[in-house]
Amino acid sequence: MVAANWKMNGLRRDGRDLARALARLKGTAGEPACDIVVCPPAALLFELRDDLLGAGMALGGQDCHAEDKGAHTGDISAELLADCGCEYVILGHSERRANHGETSALISAKVAAARRAGLRAILCVGESEAERDAGRALAVVGEQLRESLPEAGTSAEITIAYEPVWAIGTGRTANAADIGEMHMHIRQLFGQLKTGGESGLRVLYGGSVKAENASEILTIAGVDGALVGGASLSAESFWNICAHYGR
Ligand code: PEP
Repeated sequence: MVAANWKMNGLRRDGRDLARALARLKGTAGEPACDIVVCPPAALLFELRDDLLGAGMALGGQDCHAEDKGAHTGDISAELLADCGCEYVILGHSERRANHGETSALISAKVAAARRAGLRAILCVGESEAERDAGRALAVVGEQLRESLPEAGTSAEITIAYEPVWAIGTGRTANAADIGEMHMHIRQLFGQLKTGGESGLRVLYGGSVKAENASEILTIAGVDGALVGGASLSAESFWNICAHYGR
């Protein structure tokens, strides 16, 4: 899977242009053997639905509320995301954890809400630079995973994105050995925590993935795809990452 996280970028016209450029590339440049998920800002979801779904890509939200509905000004429900055509929702992104004070307990409730609405969660975990320097990366990510995973939900319903916080938007990436070790750790832990086991689980890497480093990262054992921020704002760049799976 290669997932695009557009974050809070672009107006309606930019979103339309980007979605249509991706659809054109997909129609003319051959089919990469991966699922492609595009997560635009919430206000663009419905508008871009036909272009993206029509081209065989999936739509995802960037967050949802933990409750199904109610007095939660400014929030969006998982059910409304699904109603807008979403199949996926990103949850627990480090920008939500840091900028909105989201705890793993809250994220666990959001993953459960997504499941109730029939959405698949892309659950993000990742350590800070200080935590990695202190030799605590595996422990921190393990704790995030344990606390962010609700009891219900299988590997078909939940994808994990390992995103070292210090690699997001910085141009820096973790080294191959550290990525491989973390992905195996996540897979193992998921298998222990979930009665359905880790079979079929997809563990994505995120953090400054771009066309130039995609092949190196996506060939690491245990890496099942990428969550892409900055490079997903250019159709060509994003497509060249997806195209790794066509080679
Ligand atoms: C992200 O925010 O999920 C991300 C991976 O961003 P970037 O690719 O820009 O580092």
